[in-house]
Amino acid sequence: MYCRNCGKEIESQAVVCPSCGVPPMLEKKFCQACGEVTQPNQTMCTKCGVALVAKTQVSETKNKMAAGLLGIFLGCFGIHKFYLGYNKEAIIMLAISLGAGLVTCGAATGVMSVIGLIEGIIYLTKPDEEFEQLYIQGHKGWF
Ligand SMILES: [Zn+2]
Ligand SMILES: [Zn+2]
Repeated sequence: MYCRNCGKEIESQAVVCPSCGVPPMLEKKFCQACGEVTQPNQTMCTKCGVALVAKTQVSETKNKMAAGLLGIFLGCFGIHKFYLGYNKEAIIMLAISLGAGLVTCGAATGVMSVIGLIEGIIYLTKPDEEFEQLYIQGHKGWF
């Protein structure tokens, strides 16, 4: 990926850009996928078509605590995944809980609850930065 502040190519896990010292997704001057110059209110790169997301915008809307608690209490319905924007994974959990749950007298729903509970606990125990990298920027669908 590229630093959105200085446009230098950097490692995708870099928390801070080694060339300019700024968190790579904080600024909006370059595309994070191809390094093309972008305008501050541009939402999509005109060169490679990737969505231009600034880290500050994302952190305001997604809360680690909320995602964790949703996973613990409503995990079997995949609510925490809907919250994080993982619609595909969320629908899978919901379908298994409701569909397979009915056939197995709730056993499948129980399994989904346990998965939600574990994921909720993982979310809560991750440091904020790692949570954001894995689940918000990285879109890690499961665990
Ligand atoms: Zn930089
Ligand atoms: Zn681009």
